[in-house]
Amino acid sequence: MALHPDARALNLPAVAPQGLSLSGQTEVGELGRLLEELEASAAAPIAWQAHLQWRQAAGASAQLWLHLQAQARLPLGCQRCLAPVLEAIEIDRWFRFVESEEVALAEDDDCEEDLLVMQPQFDLLNLLEDELLLDLPLVPMHKRCPDSVPELDQPEVAKPNPFAVLAGLKNKAP
Ligand SMILES: [Zn+2]
Repeated sequence: MALHPDARALNLPAVAPQGLSLSGQTEVGELGRLLEELEASAAAPIAWQAHLQWRQAAGASAQLWLHLQAQARLPLGCQRCLAPVLEAIEIDRWFRFVESEEVALAEDDDCEEDLLVMQPQFDLLNLLEDELLLDLPLVPMHKRCPDSVPELDQPEVAKPNPFAVLAGLKNKAP
């Protein structure tokens, strides 16, 4: 991604006192683990915004916080008709960087934000990918599956479509 060549290797300790804002459009093809979960590689790019800021903590040195937001529409396989269904995913999360894995484990239960370990080559897009994977719906499904799906493709144990049942009742009405 040409606009932000360092989004995969951010030097966190070197973030300026006034903070750092990044944003970008990342192709799904750049996120290999996510791509494996999708029905089509022709997904629209994922828009994301990240803001890093230092906050002075009482009696301690400044802490680095990250606010990560992303908006995506990802094609997943509908669990009913198997055709792709676009699922809208919104990420809006706060993270705080701590000096070590030990501190992260020790403090994790006591705070609302997620803790990450401070590092000189932080991969922001990898974190974005983690968050998108966590937010994928377990059972993606159309609100109404497309009509064009042949009956033969439906699993035999499939429950009747409630809309079809309703339509049937209507037809039986005098
Ligand atoms: Zn469907």
